[in-house]
Amino acid sequence: MTETLVFASAVDPIEPWRAALEALLPDVRVRPPDEIGPGDDVRYALVWKPPAGFFARHPGLRLVTILGAGADALVGRDDLPDVPITRLSDPEMARMMTHYVLFAVLRYARDIPAFEAAQRAGRWHYVHPREAREIRVGVLGLGELGGAAALELARQGFSVAGWSRTPKALPGVDCHAGPDALIPFLARSEILVVMLPLTPETRRLVGADEIAALPRGAALINVSRGAVIDEAALVAALAAGHLGGATLDVFETEPLAAGHPLWGMESVLVTPHLASVAIPASAARQIAENIHRVRAGRAPEHRVDLTRGY
Ligand code: NDP
Repeated sequence: MTETLVFASAVDPIEPWRAALEALLPDVRVRPPDEIGPGDDVRYALVWKPPAGFFARHPGLRLVTILGAGADALVGRDDLPDVPITRLSDPEMARMMTHYVLFAVLRYARDIPAFEAAQRAGRWHYVHPREAREIRVGVLGLGELGGAAALELARQGFSVAGWSRTPKALPGVDCHAGPDALIPFLARSEILVVMLPLTPETRRLVGADEIAALPRGAALINVSRGAVIDEAALVAALAAGHLGGATLDVFETEPLAAGHPLWGMESVLVTPHLASVAIPASAARQIAENIHRVRAGRAPEHRVDLTRGY
């Protein structure tokens, strides 16, 4: 019997997902919400911020997959069906994120912003390069994406520490866990990479006190969610020079508003929330595997814990 997967996203085109999923699941039709008819047996949903009322229209759902790694946009909703909610877990998405983090860390480690400024001024400005092992990088959040980035930074020879909620062991990474370990961890991070999910516990977790704990001149890279950082405190620390630079892919409000102080700061690099994206050809394999599991009465993998928030 043919089943239907409803695909709802205002930002992702359906075609690559349809092609990848239908190739793996010949008995599943992938349809956008407006093409669903009475003959469709809608069992699965692949969604990014679906509109209010979406889930109620599909009472036969057995599995919801978020079209991304972050669950924050869905977790707080009061209209979620009582079925497993899963996130994408895709090595190619982790690779793309690792590339962005590596780029941003290397840019600071090799003093590139100083050379960009010097070039604008037509000035030859020599800064003797430091060895990677002398440069202390801290990664906040050691999950699928954070863990992959931390491991790659360690492989590149940086002195890497990480911080998570529960204790972790990653080769080459000095791992810390829990609230009491946060300030000492920040104090040793001259480049801080924020890779935490946005949850009630992590909202504004990086505030004025946490930023003040970083060494003077530290650089901050945020690729998780804007609201994990107190944006006003971030702007103030950049303006005061306590923070030497920031690479920001995510913001409290997106798109970043015209005239926002971050736009005009020389020490800030703004990118429009694209550090990593879901890649249909590889992520479809995980979705298909979960559909097979649900059909066989087994628990799907990469389930979001709604009480924990990620
Ligand atoms: P995971 O859910 O796999 O891991 C989250 C990590 O954060 C875990 O190590 C977890 O600890 C830790 N954590 C969660 N809450 C706390 C807390 N209160 N205190 C300390 N540590 C905590 O997430 P991913 O690594 O896959 O992704 C991270 C985030 O990146 C996503 O949630 C999403 O918001 C963002 N993202 C951004 C993209 C972009 O383009 N900018 C693209 C994709 C994702 P523990 O290990 O103990 O559970």
